[in-house]
Amino acid sequence: MSVFSLRDFADHEQVVFVSDDASGLKAIIAVHNSNLGPALGGCRMWPYASEEEAIHDVLRLSRGMTYKSALAGLKLGGGKSVIIGNPRTDKSPALLDAFARALNNLNGRYIAAEDSGTSVADMKYLAERTAHVAGIVDKPTDGGGTRSGDPSPATALGTFVGIKAAVKAQLGRDSLDGVRVAVQGVGNVGFDLAQQLHAAGAKLWVTDIHQDNLSRAEAELGAVVVAPDAIYAQDVDVFAPCALGAVINDQTIPQLKARIVAGASNNQLAEARHGSELMRRGILYAPDYVINAGGIIDVYYERTGFDRAALLAHVEGIYGTLLEIFERASTEQRPTGEVADALAEARFKR
Ligand code: NAD
Repeated sequence: MSVFSLRDFADHEQVVFVSDDASGLKAIIAVHNSNLGPALGGCRMWPYASEEEAIHDVLRLSRGMTYKSALAGLKLGGGKSVIIGNPRTDKSPALLDAFARALNNLNGRYIAAEDSGTSVADMKYLAERTAHVAGIVDKPTDGGGTRSGDPSPATALGTFVGIKAAVKAQLGRDSLDGVRVAVQGVGNVGFDLAQQLHAAGAKLWVTDIHQDNLSRAEAELGAVVVAPDAIYAQDVDVFAPCALGAVINDQTIPQLKARIVAGASNNQLAEARHGSELMRRGILYAPDYVINAGGIIDVYYERTGFDRAALLAHVEGIYGTLLEIFERASTEQRPTGEVADALAEARFKR
């Protein structure tokens, strides 16, 4: 197969194929762009059906990290890695040892973090063998305790302020009191977000595929529970995807009654043209990689010396970044995603 001419290759600086016979490691590490700093991004372990699939995934995700970090105002580049294999059966200390050696060989050009199929515990294991790992520090919490490297609370905070920005721009309201929000997926990020929305006076509709998550949202937040397929058509102001990617597509857009799409999921638009279709219908879309950047900001602060007040202020800056994108999109009559991409490119392209 060709690699340089793939659409997803998109000017990648470096793509490293790693193989270690003894442990069975087969990994790909992609550094998309390091103009602003070392390339930081998750390490995903997945039983890809083919090598092509793994290459496409790592290139697409790595490029996305460049845009996310640039627009979040971080001195980081974009990168990602994938380990081809089943995380439940193929992961071993020897495999992680070999992956740590590969990270050391890149000398800090790429910094790994947790992703699907890898855990904070895996990252802590790697951190004993290489300095080029993030998302491992136990951080202080409001309650005086600590939390692990899990960036979900920061992601939820960023998504919350992002929804406030969208409500301000689209509905002209400063308060979320009485605003109706449908949250798709009340897991780590979605439930935390729903708690903040509830505290701000929003009314909630939720869905999930796990009954215990739904029961918790119903009991603690008074949320109305709906079936997974019914979430799109709820009569709400905001649709907040916090479960899966590609949920904004030809089937779901016609069902939407919400005037705002703003949530934490990665890759919400099935295709870029769906951003144009939302605009055509007068639905304001908060670009996913802008509104869900709280997690990468959290990881960044971990590496620069953890300062909780500075971290929270930085995450809350997502409000202003989104307002700027919404204003430009409205003035230039362009989809918000295109405006975000242009702003990011102006920062990282030399
Ligand atoms: P999670 O697994 O904790 O939560 C996802 C929830 O969605 C789960 O409760 C799951 O049961 C539910 N779900 C799965 N399929 C569903 C379906 N078809 N319909 C409704 N609900 C469904 O994951 P998370 O960490 O909360 O992340 C949520 C999303 O946000 C993901 O897309 C993730 O990539 C993205 N994201 C997360 C972070 C972070 O810091 N955790 C950062 C950036 C982006």
